[in-house]
Amino acid sequence: MSESIVLFGPPGAGKGTQAEAIVNATGKPQVSTGDMLRAALNAGTTLGLEAKKYMDVGELVPDEVIIGLIADRMQEDDACDGVLFDGFPRTIIQAEALAKIAVVTLVISIEVPDESIVERIVGRRMDPETGEIYHVNFRPAPSDISSRLIQRKDDNEEAVRTRLVAYHSQTAPLAEWYDQRGILKTVNGNQGMAEVGAEISQLLD
Ligand code: AMP
Repeated sequence: MSESIVLFGPPGAGKGTQAEAIVNATGKPQVSTGDMLRAALNAGTTLGLEAKKYMDVGELVPDEVIIGLIADRMQEDDACDGVLFDGFPRTIIQAEALAKIAVVTLVISIEVPDESIVERIVGRRMDPETGEIYHVNFRPAPSDISSRLIQRKDDNEEAVRTRLVAYHSQTAPLAEWYDQRGILKTVNGNQGMAEVGAEISQLLD
């Protein structure tokens, strides 16, 4: 089985932003369960509508739904040399299921303190045409596109607080789980995007 990488960290840690550079450096496709669920929702599928109930309030979608989604995704041709998981696994049950279908050789944990997360997420905006992520204070969009930016429905303070609770209770224990397997590497996510990127590229070397 080919080698996959997991990008790990709390919501708003910058996983999606850093994923792009890792994809370019490794050639592995990004597999983001959050993006897959939002795509299912936009397509109006039963799975998307079921997931929406959890996503809107910031709770985790049930493991069996996520594991099914990943099992199907890993059957696709571009996954045969391993992938970059972003936002998956988020529970020990998901990690155990993943261990049966893929070999994870590196888990990159982007560490950001809770105090920074709410501010990061509530100010986050996306350009729907390019998928580019901006921030009202930290990374303002060029003025010609600012009128078309959108905000994710779950990027509000209430949902973020629930997402943080889910992260600490269900997802954070996975760091130790991977550390025990000797593949966890941490980077400081509480610095500029470029600095985080530089730490990650050192790990990839
Ligand atoms: P994200 O885009 O990764 O922040 O995910 C957005 C939302 O999708 C999360 O708050 C969850 O409701 C759901 N979600 C994404 N990935 C997972 C996962 N691996 N396990 C459970 N729920 C997930």
